[in-house]
Amino acid sequence: MFSFGTIFCVLCERQVAKNQSRRVAGRKDLAVCTSCHARWQQLGSQCQRCKTRVVDERDVGVFLDRYALGHLDCGAGGLEPGRNGRSWVDAAAG
Ligand SMILES: [Zn+2]
Ligand SMILES: [Zn+2]
Repeated sequence: MFSFGTIFCVLCERQVAKNQSRRVAGRKDLAVCTSCHARWQQLGSQCQRCKTRVVDERDVGVFLDRYALGHLDCGAGGLEPGRNGRSWVDAAAG
């Protein structure tokens, strides 16, 4: 019913609203939703690969092979900017 304007979140594996998510760079069909990102932050923003905290928001990426978040430097793929070309906060507020 709400298929228009939704996109697949690779973390919760559900269709989520595009304006509640950030698209995986270079992928039209995949995204990470703001609630998954918020939950990940609550759990300590841990990089799935090196198991240390991702301190800088700009370093956050997604491992498409394991559906988890982590450092861009650890091989995670980039995320497109949220609404207004800004942060997760802006995406959620939209
Ligand atoms: Zn999600
Ligand atoms: Zn890492």
